Amino acid sequence: MHITMIGSGYVGLVSGACFADFGHDVTCVDLNEKKIEALKNGQIPIFEPGLDALVADNAKAGRLTFTTDLAPAVAKADVVFIGVGTPSRRGDGHADLSYVYAAAADIARAVQGFTVVVTKSTVPVGTGDEVERIIRETNPAADVVVVSNPEFLREGAAIDDFKRPDRIVVGLEDERAREVMTEVYRPLYLNQAPLMFTGRRTAELIKYAGNAFLAMKITFINEMADLCERTGADVQDVARGIGLDGRIGSKFLNAGPGYGGSCFPKDTLALVKTGQDYDSPLRLVEATVEVNDRRKRAMGRKVIAAAGGNVRGKTVGILGLTFKPNTDDMRDAPSIAIIQALQDAGATIRAYDPEGIEMSKAVIQNVEYATDAYDVAQGADVLVLVTEWNAFRSLDLERVKAAMNTPVLVDLRNVYRQKEVEAAGFTYHSVGRPVAH
Ligand code: NAD
Repeated sequence: MHITMIGSGYVGLVSGACFADFGHDVTCVDLNEKKIEALKNGQIPIFEPGLDALVADNAKAGRLTFTTDLAPAVAKADVVFIGVGTPSRRGDGHADLSYVYAAAADIARAVQGFTVVVTKSTVPVGTGDEVERIIRETNPAADVVVVSNPEFLREGAAIDDFKRPDRIVVGLEDERAREVMTEVYRPLYLNQAPLMFTGRRTAELIKYAGNAFLAMKITFINEMADLCERTGADVQDVARGIGLDGRIGSKFLNAGPGYGGSCFPKDTLALVKTGQDYDSPLRLVEATVEVNDRRKRAMGRKVIAAAGGNVRGKTVGILGLTFKPNTDDMRDAPSIAIIQALQDAGATIRAYDPEGIEMSKAVIQNVEYATDAYDVAQGADVLVLVTEWNAFRSLDLERVKAAMNTPVLVDLRNVYRQKEVEAAGFTYHSVGRPVAH
């Protein structure tokens, strides 16, 4: 199969490289010339474990190429995937579909012969209809079927998720397209990954329903954590106690500073807007969005309380900036709101992240960047563990303490055990766990 991927970001590049690895002939297209130039030179513009080797192998085998020239790549394709960004629209929180629509018009102008156009980007229900309308209007002769195939991969484990998915959702109403999509995913299908065909609108909604449900689960345990703190219960045990119930499941029950990242915040908000547009309000999702928004800044206040109620003139050390470990993605990371709240209160921020420092420079100002966790601790009055990178999981607490001005640790991911941290001479604060003395 000749596959062309429009958009070579986290989703486009991983999907493209994996499709090439399945044996398809893949061209990854992007508007960003620097990105494509880097990829042509064997450099990977994002951090994703295993991606460099996967791209290198498939590029070497001649199955994976990169270009900024969309038209010839689309002309030769049997299948064109749209994997461009769908960020929140400034002002109202609807999904900004301008990149998707621009790609649709570009595809329409270039397409030749029967072609399946697949929306892999996360798009609101009904977007496939609009993509189809744009293509028909731009090029009435185009022999095109528009399909929805939302992507469920997680950054940090993207290749594994793509190659071993829980399910593949394909939304279409056309038999020819069904055959093509079955062929595209045949290697996974042979490995028993459930290939689920539904209507196009249903597929679009499955993606948002899934993300909203997960965001709600995280938010639920976060509110439970607050209640645990006030009642002397332990949220870790509450999570385990409910998670062992097969109807609930143990995943996504880790209390923390609130969800962030490139998907949950924007997708929950976009789903809320869709519900309002269709006069079918999603009140649970609305509450999730609101609770999570408030939580990030509340974490800033938690740190201030741990510092004795005032951080003016004090130094706060931040361990981890990205929204989760094993990515360099800073989009909507909780660290941004936490650092802002601390800076507003007069704190000086020192921070370190194994992969996220470059990206964070674009979204956070006035931060002193350190070279590792011990360097962050240097002269700090409080140390805050924001992202649970492995590098922060077994710190030499004696060494950290020696570097700090006052030994206070706020562990927003419940990585450490209170006893061991206190034994090392720290004052310790975590999320939703009782303070035992
Ligand atoms: P991204 O910002 O990393 O990548 C998007 C890329 O598309 C950019 O490189 C941009 O230059 C390029 N682009 C934009 N318009 C273009 C055009 N007309 N022609 C060619 N290239 C164009 O975004 P991402 O994180 O890969 O997300 C892409 C989509 O996938 C979004 O809808 C997102 O919600 C969805 N998604 C993301 C993830 C994730 O973990 N990042 C997971 C599942 C789904």
